[in-house]
Amino acid sequence: MSHHAGMQITKHDTDHYEDRPEGAKPDILVLHYTETRDLKEAEDYFAGRVPHPSGGRVSVHYMVDIDGGVHQYVDEDKRAWHAGVGYWRGCTDVNSHSIGVEIVHPGHKYGYGPFPDAQIDAVIALCQDVVSRHEIEARNVVAHSDIAPDRKIDPGELFPWDKLAAQGVGRVAEALRADVAGLMQEPDIVKEMLLAYGYDPQQPLDVLLSAFQRHFVQDAFVRGEQGRLTQQTVLCLLSLIK
Ligand SMILES: [Zn+2]
Repeated sequence: MSHHAGMQITKHDTDHYEDRPEGAKPDILVLHYTETRDLKEAEDYFAGRVPHPSGGRVSVHYMVDIDGGVHQYVDEDKRAWHAGVGYWRGCTDVNSHSIGVEIVHPGHKYGYGPFPDAQIDAVIALCQDVVSRHEIEARNVVAHSDIAPDRKIDPGELFPWDKLAAQGVGRVAEALRADVAGLMQEPDIVKEMLLAYGYDPQQPLDVLLSAFQRHFVQDAFVRGEQGRLTQQTVLCLLSLIK
């Protein structure tokens, strides 16, 4: 057990890590879900006991169990292998510049549903500590789906980003009151706005809209509007880049 900021963290061994490149400091926090039935199933991948379906070796700095237990696999000053190919605000080597947190959850594969309160409380406490020690900007607290929108959907459209933001972790968008009728006719400008916020310029607009909505306009999934350019999406995007 180790303690930071009063939190109890269970440490585990793995050799799935490497040094960060010279001078690389973590300035991005990436949140994931495990898409496993339990903690052990994910831990077996990080420890190399079971080969990962991707064929690669994977790991993460922290994992938060369903009951709120916090586990650490890789030290923060080391490079863990959680992000894969990705992009955020010009950074194409997200693993070198981030800390990863996996949240134990069945994911869309085994039955997607709300995240338990005890687990979210622990995620918040852990992230508050990480963000403050490394002075990570709110805008750089991202979903795996934000940095790899063509490959990843975790932690998904039910992840309570609003609860995190209320405790100073990350940001929420709020639909501004504005006339965006003109913008609705200018998808290229909307794409420029998404790129200005940090998304990958290589991705098509519909992929970026889905990723943005999964994080900031989760209602779009309830209404079946994901991937579509809607007024609410544009108004929320405006609130983040104004
Ligand atoms: Zn992930």
